[in-house]
Amino acid sequence: MDSASLWQPHLTSERFEIEATRGSARVGSLPTPHGTVLTPAFCPRADEGIVPGLGPDEVRQAGVALLAASGLDLPLRPGIESIQRLAGIHRFVGWPGPLLVDAGTQRLCELDAAGGIHGRLERVDADGVSYASPVDGSVRRITPASSVEALEALGADIAVPLYDPGRTLGTQNRRGEVRGLSALWAAAAFRSRTGNTGLMLVGGVQDVRNRDEAAWYAAKLPLDGYAFLAVSRTPRFGPLLEILPAATVRYLATAGGPDELAIALAAGFDLVSSDAPWRDAREGLAYTERGTVSLKGPPIVAERGPIEADCLCYTCQALERPYVRHLFGTHEMLGPRLVSVHNLAFVARLFARFRTDLLRA
Ligand SMILES: [Zn+2]
Repeated sequence: MDSASLWQPHLTSERFEIEATRGSARVGSLPTPHGTVLTPAFCPRADEGIVPGLGPDEVRQAGVALLAASGLDLPLRPGIESIQRLAGIHRFVGWPGPLLVDAGTQRLCELDAAGGIHGRLERVDADGVSYASPVDGSVRRITPASSVEALEALGADIAVPLYDPGRTLGTQNRRGEVRGLSALWAAAAFRSRTGNTGLMLVGGVQDVRNRDEAAWYAAKLPLDGYAFLAVSRTPRFGPLLEILPAATVRYLATAGGPDELAIALAAGFDLVSSDAPWRDAREGLAYTERGTVSLKGPPIVAERGPIEADCLCYTCQALERPYVRHLFGTHEMLGPRLVSVHNLAFVARLFARFRTDLLRA
């Protein structure tokens, strides 16, 4: 059966409103059952339902409106039934605002690339993915339909069902197979949505190299939005972004820092997730308007003052660079925490400023 005949009418795409555009870039508003997200929005990756080292209030105070949790990890630990008994994912993780939950394509790719036993991709076939659990190594199975069932049961506001990671089957001589797989999986995910949960479905596409392919995806995948996995530092998503229906959400799952995030904003992505702010913070790397600076090494008298003079985060309001350096020198956990607070605020401000500037233009 042709996958195009499987589609149901859009349920939610009309809810996303684009307020202004400039070139490829745009700003908008995205209502969800747990609040409206002003776009473009940075959504920190909270794979286990937590931004490592930070409490939900600290994340919120940094200017973050949307969290990206992992639909691979949470169903394994603590499990969907446990989360349901604990009043749902929002109560469980202490985040009353919108939650985007990714079924795990990005996590599986990262875990597999890490080369460990846990999380390894065992098999990708026409129906789904078998993988070794990142928790205990047991072999698990996930399909597009089972991923939607899990995302609905968790109570996600924005759901990214399992999609073909591209990297696994995306070799040049098998491209026809990859395209067919993406469409079939997206169709299976779409059919599985019950329509009772307000779930916004953001389907995944990957590794598009020219306009013909882009047109094919746009015609075959009429979803609420589209997810892109940045598997390289120079993703070439331009052809697809130009052709996708304007009122669909574009979500980029990346691991990049400020430079890559700025490229994503200019390219027209509406939602962008990353774990770079605290991954860099652990290494003592702080974001500033003049580039990333290392705060490892002994305190420097000439550095007196905050990390960033005009930053309103707790770290910059209360403490000076030499003290933060001291914390890294003494291997205190407070050092990475304070720099995480700052980096998260820096990135949230980058997105907010982009939005304000574009609306003023
Ligand atoms: Zn700061």
